[in-house]
Parts: sequence; structure tokens; C-alpha cells
Amino acid sequence: MTDWVGRDEGPDGDRASVREAFSLLAHDIRLDIVLALLKNWAAVYTEPQSYSDLMDAVGMRDSGKFNYHLDKLRGVYVERVEDGYVPTASAVALYRTVLAYRPTEMATETGELDEPCPHCGGTLVEQYERSFFTLDCTDCDNWDLLTYVFPKNGLRNRAGQERYRAVEYRADYHTGLARTGQCPFCAGPVTFHFDPEDVEGTPPLVGITCDTCTWHVGVSLLTPLQFVPRVAAALVDLGIEPPVVEADNVVEMAAEIRSEEPFRVGLDITSEEGTATIVVDDDLDVHSVDVRTDG
Ligand SMILES: [Zn+2]
Ligand SMILES: [Zn+2]
Repeated sequence: MTDWVGRDEGPDGDRASVREAFSLLAHDIRLDIVLALLKNWAAVYTEPQSYSDLMDAVGMRDSGKFNYHLDKLRGVYVERVEDGYVPTASAVALYRTVLAYRPTEMATETGELDEPCPHCGGTLVEQYERSFFTLDCTDCDNWDLLTYVFPKNGLRNRAGQERYRAVEYRADYHTGLARTGQCPFCAGPVTFHFDPEDVEGTPPLVGITCDTCTWHVGVSLLTPLQFVPRVAAALVDLGIEPPVVEADNVVEMAAEIRSEEPFRVGLDITSEEGTATIVVDDDLDVHSVDVRTDG
């Protein structure tokens, strides 16, 4: 089985195979076949369509011509199974992505929000451009700043706090999954970047990039770690309920690179209740969690 969109082939090979895959759809009969398969798609419960049913669905009588186009789609958008044909995962992924980001006029009006900044009471401004949602506070534009790719579909029926929380949650849960070594979009391996200036900055930051599909985030070191149960338990001991984006009660966050070989970073989270120290390695695996509460 060839990985027709895999980056291992090198950029030129990638572009050629992606171009080939996209160009397959530039034909009415092939497009009708893919759409007929997607119409009955029901995840694992999808009933395969027989050769003749599929031919009927696209209104064709010429078996030779039909077969020619069906054959071109095989492996890329159409898979032959025991009882007929089903769409491939890439046909489904393409379909879902188009639904998520489909161009419509709805719900993209943005600007100043009625509710105040949860951190400083200042003015919140939201923007939606090129499928990226951005939230800025005009008064405290440092650590609560948010920019993340967000499907336009998710803006529908949401406004104000509910809307930006939805974007925050999506970004946070994606980084939680990435911490386990898996890209939230393509499931490929990810790389963690510990730039000393970022790690030891305020707030402490870590970069995570996907080696395959260009997904990239720069986030608070605590954001991906809050999904580790013992880190979450330590935060609760400090009176901070994960996800931390909701919490106003983090008094201070500071991190330092403690050693290079083996690589260790210590992160201190301080609230009114006390301090938690979380030690991680260069894969963001948690080595220890210590909580010191006052009193
Ligand atoms: Zn603010
Ligand atoms: Zn990826």
C-alpha cells in the first residue's frame, strides 16, 4: 500500500500525489461516484454498495466507461470490500473538512464583546480570518491571548464567551492529545520545542509541531500537562479546576530547565493555596508532581 500523501516521498513527490488525488475529482462521473458513496456513509455501519447499485446511483448504462472511472478512484477515494464499494478514509476526511470549513456568510461577524476580560475586566475583541479565531484583550494582551484554527461550522449558534471558550477548549484538548505524541489532525508523530527563552519566560511556553501536516502550537507549558491525572489532582489541591483557561487563581507560573542530560524542566504553579512543582522531560512526560499547601 503506497502512502500517497505521505511526506516521506519528499515535497515534490507529495505535491504530485496530492495533485493527482485532487484532479481525480475534476470529472463529473468520478465526482458522482464519490458523492454516491458518501451519501450512504455511516462510519463503521456503512453498507457497501454493489457495482450495479453504484452504477444505477450515478445513472450510467455503459459498464465499460463506468468501470474505467471507478478503477481510477480505487485506492484513493473508493475501496473495494467483500460486498461492494465504500468510500476511503480520505474521501470521508475531505468531505468532513469541506463541511467544517464550507464558505457561508453565517456567524463570522466579530468585534468587541459585551463581556469583560475574565483576567483584567478589560475589553475583549474577537476576530475570524482565514479560518483562525483570535481573541485579544485590549488591556492585558499577554497570556490569555488566543489564536487557533477553528472550523467555521463551530461559530454557528455560539456567541460571546461560549464561542471563545469553544475555541479554547478545542485548542487545549488538541494539545493534550499532542502531549501523548500524536498530532490531533493527522495522528503522526509530533516534536516538542523547548526554547530556553520561552520555557523560562512569563508564562512558560512550549512549542509543539507535527512532523507531517504542519500543525503547530505555542502554548503555556501547563496547557498540555493539565490532562495528566496527577497534574490535574495537584491543580485541584491548589484550588484550580482544570481546564486552567477558566481559572483566575493562578498567582504565578515559572519554569526552569534543570538539566540538559537528561533533559528536565521544573514548572512551579502557585495559587493562594500553595505551590505545585511538576517535572517533565523533553517528551512532556511527567516525572514528578509535588504539592506544598500553606497551612
Ligand atoms: Zn484582559
Ligand atoms: Zn499532523
